[in-house]
Amino acid sequence: MARIVMKFGGTSMAGIERIRSVAARVKREVEAGNEVAVVVSAMAGETDRLVGFCREASSLYDAREYDVVVSAGEQVTSGLLAIALQAAGVPARSWLGWQLPIRTSDGHASARIADIDTASLRASMARGEVAVIPGFQGVAAGERVTTLGRGGSDTSAVAMAAAMQADRCDIYTDVDGVYTTDPRIVPRARKLRQVTYEEMLELASVGAKVLQTRSVGLAMKEKVRVQVLSSFTGDDAPMADTLPGTMIVGEEEIDDMERQLITGIAHDKNEAKITLTSVPDQPGAVAAIFEPLAAANINVDMIIQNIAHQSAGRPGSTDVTFTVPAADLARSIEALNQARAAIGFAELVHDTRVAKISVVGVGMRSHAGVASTMFTTLGARGINILAISTSEIKVSVLIHEDETELAVRVLHTAYGLDAEEAA
Ligand code: ADP
Ligand code: ASP
Ligand code: MG
Repeated sequence: MARIVMKFGGTSMAGIERIRSVAARVKREVEAGNEVAVVVSAMAGETDRLVGFCREASSLYDAREYDVVVSAGEQVTSGLLAIALQAAGVPARSWLGWQLPIRTSDGHASARIADIDTASLRASMARGEVAVIPGFQGVAAGERVTTLGRGGSDTSAVAMAAAMQADRCDIYTDVDGVYTTDPRIVPRARKLRQVTYEEMLELASVGAKVLQTRSVGLAMKEKVRVQVLSSFTGDDAPMADTLPGTMIVGEEEIDDMERQLITGIAHDKNEAKITLTSVPDQPGAVAAIFEPLAAANINVDMIIQNIAHQSAGRPGSTDVTFTVPAADLARSIEALNQARAAIGFAELVHDTRVAKISVVGVGMRSHAGVASTMFTTLGARGINILAISTSEIKVSVLIHEDETELAVRVLHTAYGLDAEEAA
């Protein structure tokens, strides 16, 4: 007998028919003799709808009440799945975040899980019940409901698997695994049988939304075995323990056959570019720009500073360009304008029509030329690079948003990632 956490995302839970099919899949695992806890997302589109209501109610809403509203989608699907399981003859009950409880920080809308009390879950599962747990939600000190940030049900599932010492955490979604790039953009994307925690963490953080970044970090830290697989398969689909999806594994576990220079390519259209012109070229100038942004809790990602222009008799000046999350653009502009006298820039220019394209692979630690292939390939297609950033296993470039699909496709081919046949 294995203990398994099964997580079903929004499209997998979208409507009663889909929920019945999820119940059938859970039933198969139970009948195979496994002990099962299920973590569910809200129906696809539901969380967006609830967020919309909050914004409509007030532009400055109370984050604690926002969490009460947006966590409701998962409450509905957890109850519905328990009903569908019972109707299929499987004893089941729902456990809301506050009932277990799943304790979190009080960072409303992006809370972190601190601790999960599994005592009542274990007792219920020992009675032969399937536990159905709404993802995305928890409870902070003071008994206020919290949510974990968009896409947070993945993190709920991994945290649950760690707390229950589960043998595996199966993340069921609308694709059958992690691909070399988003298969909805590049039909020639290839499914990976394995990917390392470190690469998945980097891919998720640069836009591969198949797993929430935090869930991968947690899985790596807690050594949770995570599989990504499809819920859109028939009753004759192979059982999950035959590992039909993609396994996230430690670097030491990866098969030599799977080792590639580049593992995957991701894109992210949620960044905005800001340029400050004619910033004085003197010590402390850059600090004067980034201090107010840090104080406002805004994460700066890519940064470039141009060579200083010298003009006779005056200190030189330079342009500084950087990116921030698009959602933080308005706050960034406000913080920079407030600090304008201290920074001394002439103009602030911003642009949200940009995209960040990143190539990721542990192979680049030991191989030169990854970045140059990227620049040459994009240059040959006339795609202009607006900014660059690198880490040990990643190279990212900022380009015009309209060129996103083309850039991802040509890079996918250039790094030899294309599947033989289009999927
Ligand atoms: P869920 O609702 O199940 O949580 P998400 O929409 O959050 O599903 O994540 C699944 C989606 O992630 C896929 O439909 C796919 O378009 C997208 N995706 C982005 N990059 C990748 C990738 N490298 N491999 C697989 N899917 C990816
Ligand atoms: N329902 C939440 C969202 O849409 C959490 C999740 O689905 O993972 O962000
Ligand atoms: Mg998701």
